[in-house]
Amino acid sequence: MARLLCIGEILVEMVAVDVDQPTTRPGRWAGPFPSGAPAILADQAALCGAEVSLVGTVGRDAFGTACLTRLRASGVVVDQVRVDPDGTTGVAFVSYRGDGSRSFVFHLADAASGRFRLADVESGLLGVDVVHLMGSSVFSAAAAEAVGEVFDAARARGIAVSFDPNLRPETLRREHVPTLLRILRGAQVVLASEGELQLLLGDAPDEDCARQLLAGSATTVVLKRGARGAGLYLDGREELSVPAVPVDEVDPTGAGDCFGGTFLALVLQGWAPADALRHANLAGALAVTQRGPMSGNRTLADLRAAEHLLPST
Ligand code: ATP
Ligand code: MG
Repeated sequence: MARLLCIGEILVEMVAVDVDQPTTRPGRWAGPFPSGAPAILADQAALCGAEVSLVGTVGRDAFGTACLTRLRASGVVVDQVRVDPDGTTGVAFVSYRGDGSRSFVFHLADAASGRFRLADVESGLLGVDVVHLMGSSVFSAAAAEAVGEVFDAARARGIAVSFDPNLRPETLRREHVPTLLRILRGAQVVLASEGELQLLLGDAPDEDCARQLLAGSATTVVLKRGARGAGLYLDGREELSVPAVPVDEVDPTGAGDCFGGTFLALVLQGWAPADALRHANLAGALAVTQRGPMSGNRTLADLRAAEHLLPST
């Protein structure tokens, strides 16, 4: 089976229990939940049957153990995750506002979780078919350099790159945009949230940006539209839009990564992209029904059992 490699931040997340709970005062928090966008994606891809390994760094502490225990249990190969004795595992605090928006406080760039480097991944590139990279991993100058180098190493070996810009305003720096653009323009698969392509590529609407990427290096572009579903654009011009599966949203963080992990796992197992999209759309919907970024991840058997929820398109 085709093999997937994910690289980037592995951290725990604390979720504010109450809506509009300020991060400036004491409040009620749920967690620690295993998290980190590449980790969530890898977890879901493994649950859906993919051969997936994750490269990153954690501290030698209970939070690192919590993440690695969860990932191992889901079937992610974590042999190349470096446990750094000189730092603590990263932490993110997320709180939701009444209007549905959210804010993060990240302890990442200076934590052990921010110390992954090309050297951590180089031997792991052997036998890999797709490397998945994320913009959220580009949170410091050192991380930008590492992610850029992994991209170059993958492309030099002819390995396909999948990219989710996954922009986080809290950690995005102007000086990192060229790295993000280089990866976006060179990736074969792009999985973007609404508005991200327009933000990175200029004034054109996301759909036009998707076609622009398909005229370049991309063969598949997916637009994630939250509660409005998702769209698929292929270089053969096939386009598909699916409405969201109606659910009660409890915690939207991680839905995009659950969606991406499902999509990549199914495509790597030979599914038609349109069927992979429908099941990713289902997985993303189920993911938002539970608190905690990986709590809503589902196995392929779970998704099959929930197929009756698929919108008839
Ligand atoms: P994140 O970066 O927080 O993981 P994202 O912005 O990358 O999220 P979203 O578009 O929010 O990704 O969600 C991914 C997919 O999950 C959507 O395309 C959709 O299929 C599904 N989804 C998300 N929110 C909902 C919702 N409220 N109801 C139903 N489906 C949803
Ligand atoms: Mg995202």
